[in-house]
Amino acid sequence: MTKSKLSTKQMLKLLLLVQEHDSQLLELEMRKDFFPGLLVKLKTQIENVKSEYAEKRERFVEVKKEIQQLEIDVDKHKDGLEKSHEKLRKVSTNKEYDAVQSEIITHNEMIAEIEDNLLTLMDEADKLEKDVSGLKKTSAQIKVENSKRIEEMTKSAGEIDSIIEKIYMERNKIADRISKRMVRRYEQIREGRQGVAIVGIVDRACGGCMQALPPQKIQDIRAGQLVVCENCGRVLVDLEELNRMSIEDS
Ligand SMILES: [Zn+2]
Repeated sequence: MTKSKLSTKQMLKLLLLVQEHDSQLLELEMRKDFFPGLLVKLKTQIENVKSEYAEKRERFVEVKKEIQQLEIDVDKHKDGLEKSHEKLRKVSTNKEYDAVQSEIITHNEMIAEIEDNLLTLMDEADKLEKDVSGLKKTSAQIKVENSKRIEEMTKSAGEIDSIIEKIYMERNKIADRISKRMVRRYEQIREGRQGVAIVGIVDRACGGCMQALPPQKIQDIRAGQLVVCENCGRVLVDLEELNRMSIEDS
């Protein structure tokens, strides 16, 4: 079939096929653009949970060491306190008495302060222990889930290029059957119209912008004329008829 022998309806049907291919290509390109960002996001998520787990575990070990040290310190002051009380029984002067009393006060103050700190640290340790065990599970789970998605995505990113190539070649084969002037016009109309140059009639209105169509226009479309929407500039077609029609029909 030569280009000149195509009727307007046949040409529009071919253009519609070109548009279907172009829409698929647009979607695939968008998916491809989306890949690198998503890959980074999935990898970052794994790293973030992993480092949060490491941080909390490190702090947990630190807190436990601090608790051990404070327990040693509190025992020292308790021993000191016992010794001070023994000394108190043996003092003979007021001066000695005052000195030992002051030791006792210091020990008691220190014990109270350390025990306060111990309570705070033990609360923190309890919370950290729960966090660490929760994060260990979450981290392992996210690693498995995200790694699986990364693997799938990397595989389909490789496949997507060959799919794009295949659709692009099919698209050009169809476009080659239409006059270059018409394909250029189609491409110009697509620009700035979300990639949609050809639309059907929907409820007696333009399927692209929903502007109502005069009955005469609808008749012209059905009669096989090239009709453009006055509002949005898209080419109007009777989709049902074009879908029923075979390209080889007149
Ligand atoms: Zn319109």
